[in-house]
Amino acid sequence: MYPELKLYIAGEWRGSATDMPVVNPATEAVIGRLPCAQTSDLDDALTAAQAGLRIWSRTSPRDRADIILRAARLMRERQETIAQAITLEQGKPLAQARLEVIRGAEFFEWDAGEAMRTYGRIIPAPKGQKFAVHHQPIGVVAAFAPWNFPMSQPARKIGGALAAGCSVILKAAEETPAGAIHIAKAFEDAGLPRGVLNLVFGDPAAISAHLIPQDPVRLVAFTGSTAIGRHLTTMASENMTSVLMELGGHAPVIVCEDAGAQDAGQAGAVRKMRNAGQVCTSPTRFFVHESLFDTFASAFVSRAAATVVGNGLDEGVEMGPLANSRRLPALTELIEDARQKGATIATGGARHGNEGYFLQPTVVLNAPDDARIMQEEPFGPLAVINSVRSLDDAIEKANSVPYGLAGYAFTNRADYIDRLVDEVEVGNLSINTLEASMPETPFGGVKSSGYGREGGSEGLDNYMTVKHVWYCAA
Ligand code: NAD
Repeated sequence: MYPELKLYIAGEWRGSATDMPVVNPATEAVIGRLPCAQTSDLDDALTAAQAGLRIWSRTSPRDRADIILRAARLMRERQETIAQAITLEQGKPLAQARLEVIRGAEFFEWDAGEAMRTYGRIIPAPKGQKFAVHHQPIGVVAAFAPWNFPMSQPARKIGGALAAGCSVILKAAEETPAGAIHIAKAFEDAGLPRGVLNLVFGDPAAISAHLIPQDPVRLVAFTGSTAIGRHLTTMASENMTSVLMELGGHAPVIVCEDAGAQDAGQAGAVRKMRNAGQVCTSPTRFFVHESLFDTFASAFVSRAAATVVGNGLDEGVEMGPLANSRRLPALTELIEDARQKGATIATGGARHGNEGYFLQPTVVLNAPDDARIMQEEPFGPLAVINSVRSLDDAIEKANSVPYGLAGYAFTNRADYIDRLVDEVEVGNLSINTLEASMPETPFGGVKSSGYGREGGSEGLDNYMTVKHVWYCAA
């Protein structure tokens, strides 16, 4: 069920003299050993990516799209194998892993279409002259993908880069390498030229410090925490290298007085526990109008407490473990801080069982503004429900964090929706739904949640440069 783990450089699968264990977070069992790239492997990947760029940037967009679509078809055919590997390494319920594989394939399919729509334009010019705007691949991309979606996170980066005609060196997450390995296999089988896609693992800090300053690397594309994103952006600025940063979020949910409190409460609990809350758009800070607070909180708490927690391979499980051992103390500290500052822990609050990195679904009520949870992204199955007196109050609280990725609201009032659209500081706002993004919609943040967009018709912008050409009749 779990693939052999290798680096993929210049179209070859290779091991290394050093490796590290990959652990199933539900059982703490070692399920594989991951080779760690040495400096020479990274240099080989850079050489391969430059050679790959020369071929791929001159491959017609239609031919690029054909290969991307072929790879996506293979991922769909291999859905069950890939999903099992994702559940083993990351812990999410198998049903969610299956959906992730399909979503990953959809990202590739969307990007393949966009490859053929990277239109330039002609600007009116004096007689005998022409002003033409061309979009060209930016160059070699150094991409870094996290562990919460082992397949769809790498898919976002690889899809955009390959569609635009760039080559890629991807460092996927060491905790969850199989998703990216399955993607590389699909591209190998689909006929992607050697060197266009390279996959490395190892010491994240050493890999980024080696790759980012290199001249051929023209874009650093990262998804992960704001702290690491800031560090990589600083490194990239030394060489004036572009960055695409998809960083943390701390999504507010504003529940207005006209909302259906019972339904919104239940929907909020289900969405919060998806992927054990390890989603950058996960709804976390619920600001509920005081007239609905009791009904909303009671529906939310009872649905959260009823969540079936367990090994993602078991039938009926709704929530798996946290993805690694670091997350358990990180979350329990946030919960303890909230408790000490006077919040009520309405359900959960502790480790679930004594094997695996499981946390009970946790709901905190009435957390004070100075509780750490009101400022820090929990990235786990932890929600806060606070009461607000007005929309003004809710919007002010929603905007009171450095993050601005996803935001949600429940209301049907047109005047409220207008204000939410104008005033909530996020890159993605959803009204009466807790879904935040689709392949065809642009996804990304404002403020400390990063820059750039993935998906939508904006999705290839970061992977391309704009060249203006001024033609004069000789
Ligand atoms: P972390 O910040 O140490 O790592 C986050 C990711 O960045 C990991 O995939 C890691 O391999 C990579 N990374 C770390 N240091 C790096 C470096 N110097 N160079 C290149 N890559 C590096 O945190 P963590 O403990 O793995 O996760 C905790 C936090 O990360 C969460 O609280 C959350 O904010 C954030 N996170 C966000 C996303 C997201 O989708 N935006 C995904 C995973 C983690």
